[in-house]
Amino acid sequence: MLGWSINLFRVRGIQLSVHASFFLLLAWFAKDGWDSGGVSDMAISVGLLLAFFTCVVLHEFGHSFTAMHFGIGVRRILLMPIGGMAEFQSIPREPSRELLITLAGPAVNFAIAALLWAIVGLPDGFPFHSEFLDRPSGYTQMLLQWNLMMGFFNLLPIFPMDGGRIFRALLAWRMPYLRATLWAANAGKVLAVIAGLLALFVWNSPLTAVLFAFIFLAGETEYRVVRRHEVDEVRWREMLARYYEPLPPKEPPILSH
Ligand code: ZN
Repeated sequence: MLGWSINLFRVRGIQLSVHASFFLLLAWFAKDGWDSGGVSDMAISVGLLLAFFTCVVLHEFGHSFTAMHFGIGVRRILLMPIGGMAEFQSIPREPSRELLITLAGPAVNFAIAALLWAIVGLPDGFPFHSEFLDRPSGYTQMLLQWNLMMGFFNLLPIFPMDGGRIFRALLAWRMPYLRATLWAANAGKVLAVIAGLLALFVWNSPLTAVLFAFIFLAGETEYRVVRRHEVDEVRWREMLARYYEPLPPKEPPILSH
C-alpha cells in the first residue's frame, strides 16, 4: 500500500515522498474551500493544508536529523492523508538515543508554536477557538494551535507513536529491549482500542477510529520486527523503524466555519 507514492525531492539525502492518496485530501480541501466561498476560500483551504503538512515534514526532519547525528540512516519521509512517516534503516537501540530522536519531533512543533506565539500572540478564546479565519492574523494563529495539538497528540503513549516510543525507551533502561517493546506495544494496543472505541461511539469520528486501528497494527508490526531480530538474529539492515506521525483527530479547521 505504501508503494503508491510520488517522489518529490531530497534533503540531506532523505527522499521526501507523497502518497498518491494525499492528492484526494488536497482535492477535498480544494472543493470544500470552493463550496464555501469560491477561489479565495479555496486558496485559503489548500494553503492551510499545505502549511500543516509542511509542519509535519519539519517534525519528521526533527526525528531524522537527530537520528542521522547518531549514525542512523533515514531512507525517506512519506506524507499520507493520516499524517507522516519517517523510515529509518535501523531502530535506535540505546534508550537515551531513542529518547532524544523521539523527543526531537514534537519539540519542532512546540518550537514552531513558540515562534508563532512571539510573532502574532495568542488569540482571544485560546485554545479551541474556531473563528480564527475572521482575522488577518488568523491563519498564523490557526497554525500555532495546530502545532500545539500535533505536538501533544503525538506524545500520547500509544506505541509506535512518539509517546509510546518514549515509554519503550524508559522501560528499556530497566529491562531487556524485546520485553520493553512487548510491554510498550501491549499498552499501546489497549490504549489504541480504547481510543478507537471512544472515537467511534463518543466522538462520532469513524476516521479517527481508522487511525487508531492503523496505529494498533503498526505497533504489532514493529514488535514483530524487534522479535525477529532478537530471536532469529536477523541482520540490522533488514530492520526498519517507522516513525508514524498521525495528525491530531480534529475536523479540518476550514470545515468548522
Ligand atoms: Zn514524531
